[in-house]
Amino acid sequence: MAPRNCALCKNAKAIIKRPKTGQQTCKECFFLVFETEVHNTITSARLFKPGDRVAIGASGGKDSTVLAYVMKVLNERYNYGLDLFLLSIDEGITGYRDDSLETVKQNQRDYGIPLKILSYDELYGWTMDAVVSQVGRKNNCTFCGVFRRQALDRGAAMLNVDHIVTGHNADDIAETVLMNIMRGDIARLGRCTSICTQGEDTIKRSKPFKYAYEKEIVMYAYFKSLLYFSTECIYSPDAYRGHARAFLKDLEAARPSAVIDIIHSGEAFQVREEVKATQKAQQTCTRCGYMSSNVLCKACTLLEGLERGIADAGISDRGRRKLEAAGPSPDDMRTIPLFFMPSSVSTTPSLAASSSQPSLPGDASNSAGAFASHPP
Ligand SMILES: [Zn+2]
Ligand SMILES: [Zn+2]
Repeated sequence: MAPRNCALCKNAKAIIKRPKTGQQTCKECFFLVFETEVHNTITSARLFKPGDRVAIGASGGKDSTVLAYVMKVLNERYNYGLDLFLLSIDEGITGYRDDSLETVKQNQRDYGIPLKILSYDELYGWTMDAVVSQVGRKNNCTFCGVFRRQALDRGAAMLNVDHIVTGHNADDIAETVLMNIMRGDIARLGRCTSICTQGEDTIKRSKPFKYAYEKEIVMYAYFKSLLYFSTECIYSPDAYRGHARAFLKDLEAARPSAVIDIIHSGEAFQVREEVKATQKAQQTCTRCGYMSSNVLCKACTLLEGLERGIADAGISDRGRRKLEAAGPSPDDMRTIPLFFMPSSVSTTPSLAASSSQPSLPGDASNSAGAFASHPP
């Protein structure tokens, strides 16, 4: 069969079949259509305004590597006027994160975007290797997820940025829709397709790749010869997500539009007000100042459990009761430094209202060293 011409420019030979649409295109048209779709996602959701400082959550994996590259291209092509930064979290996983961080450092040089690396060790005094050696392979992903979320916000605050963009792609979001349905988590189902999340006192987070297919991100990286790191985390993967993923892949094989159709279905769900109301009101953690739905934030609870050798303190009710029975926290216990919102987001630090709080344990009471590392 004679090679076809590109469906878009009608000129060059088609060498790519787009996974999202089945359209056959040349390489240059694929790049352009992929980038333009991301640009359309950004502009129709009005994600940015000129002068925004934006951190790209960079893991060294394919999604965030392509995101960094495309954000740079679009920022220049369309004069977004953004100050871009790469923000990487070093969980302290030997043989995984140390290698992927080398990839991010190379991206920093290749793209000329400043890089900030913040480690769990620096922030919490614990690497994931150390966490796993204490808690085993059962709940370690809970620690990692909670610690990463807070570390990203803290890294962003250090960079004084308004906004974090992450490489979550259409497949990730469709999987999350399916998982929330499978779990009956209707409140999350109502939120999980939002392109942007922002509470009153949180740093804005958004997903410019919300409608970008994982297969197209991989193709883009491949044809652009972008350098990324492709090993899965060595600690247990999310098993339940694996089921949603396998199911989604089957659906996509039968009908490629399934991925985007599931996202559209998720967007169309109307969540009743009383379900939304089950979300707890946000406050600030009395120990570290991070936003929290309880007196102590999840990271402080998990960290206290680690420090006191009651690792399930932040996981189960039984663990929490054990911790309470063990009495008040010791004075020399390590805690997370105080959190302040970046000044570009709010002119007053988020803790201004709670400056009358009792003195904090450990070095957290030293507010001047808000981001100082823990004592050894
Ligand atoms: Zn073409
Ligand atoms: Zn806290």
